[in-house]
Amino acid sequence: MNNEEKSIDISSRKVVALRDVQDAVTAGVTSLLIAENCVITPSARDFLQQRNISTVTCGKEKQAPEAPGAYGSAAPAVSVQAAASAGRPAPNPRLFTTPEAEAVKKEICAVGRKLWMRQFVDGNGGNISYRIGPNEVICTPTLVSKFDLVPEDLSMVDLEGNQIAGTKPRTSEIFLHLEIYKAVPEAKSCVHCHPPHATAYAITGKVPPNNIIPEFEVFVGKVAISPYKTPGTAEFAQTVLPFVKNHNTVLLANHGIICWGDTVTHAEWYAEVLETYCWTLMLASQLGVPISQISHQNADDLLAIKKKLGLPDSRFDTSRMKECQLADLEVPNSIALAPTPCDGYTGKSAESDIDTLVKSVTDAVMAAIGSR
Ligand SMILES: [Zn+2]
Repeated sequence: MNNEEKSIDISSRKVVALRDVQDAVTAGVTSLLIAENCVITPSARDFLQQRNISTVTCGKEKQAPEAPGAYGSAAPAVSVQAAASAGRPAPNPRLFTTPEAEAVKKEICAVGRKLWMRQFVDGNGGNISYRIGPNEVICTPTLVSKFDLVPEDLSMVDLEGNQIAGTKPRTSEIFLHLEIYKAVPEAKSCVHCHPPHATAYAITGKVPPNNIIPEFEVFVGKVAISPYKTPGTAEFAQTVLPFVKNHNTVLLANHGIICWGDTVTHAEWYAEVLETYCWTLMLASQLGVPISQISHQNADDLLAIKKKLGLPDSRFDTSRMKECQLADLEVPNSIALAPTPCDGYTGKSAESDIDTLVKSVTDAVMAAIGSR
């Protein structure tokens, strides 16, 4: 029985979840028969990889697990072939233990703890990565709370997601990070999390308005929102591609956010800046008076500061403006917060608003009485 091949047919399922594969493994299977278009959840996929269980798609040949269950010090052959075909150097597992890597691992753990302390992640949610070489990315593992992370938990993958070092399996969301590294040479680190106020925008399909708080304009500025796709899939990873060159922060519809930066710490800063901004806007919107905006001239000064800092913004390059605006057009309008027309500070006081309202009501009542 031990050496026998045993397969289970779950091809009637549209989604294969962790529970399904756990049950199958308990039943002693060595392969699963699945439907061609079924979605295997990230945790189920990781579970299969760790136990070396293959999948067989109906009418197709047997497929080996995507990554080996144990990660030796040599780069897997599949990884070397993928690197060569993409014109990249073969991944170097030795980059995982250099002094720079050890410092990065500590920084990732510190940032993970910040994310958890600020309630930007829950359960084992969120993930952090750092591009340490041309084809090497250090990342957080799957199924570990960001509060509990220690440097020994981290893994290293190549730009195709093949794990090349580390004992714990890499996060199933690494493909989202890798798409950004491939598209944006300046991106050295990515932080993905679910901060509640920014995620509240993401689940309404809205982006926060601009030119309200200087720090937000300088460090984040325009935010884009990418369409919803099942997390962990290649389709999901690619949803951010139209936006990441001109935005260091993207809302992921019905999910959370992803930020990239030149360091792990800076990528996490952008998450903090966005979350605090969204939170402040929500508080202000409950005060019952319009929110005032920074004037165009002052907003231009902030953009100039941002340019000096080398941060991306879709408003910089007028030749690319059309393309950016088109990309942004896919984004539903920013949430309506009654922005004031502005050339200088034009925020009205609550008193003057109430005076205007009282006067118009009084005028209407007097007119009605007079017409009797
Ligand atoms: Zn997530």
